[in-house]
Amino acid sequence: MDQPKTAKEALDKLGAKWSPDLDAFACGQIDASKVRCALCANAPCQCPEFGTPEYFALIEKRHGHK
Ligand SMILES: [Zn+2]
Repeated sequence: MDQPKTAKEALDKLGAKWSPDLDAFACGQIDASKVRCALCANAPCQCPEFGTPEYFALIEKRHGHK
């Protein structure tokens, strides 16, 4: 299985699936704490700890696998 080794690699793999709120944040419309996570879609982020099986499972899910 081809799993990302670093947080940056994991984020790169997400590509366009970055936070849907990022544009609003970039425009100064919302605070950073209100930007939903690209992975868990929660603000603030509630992702499992990086490197855990749960974390990678979440990435796989966001990629639309399975
Ligand atoms: Zn998250």
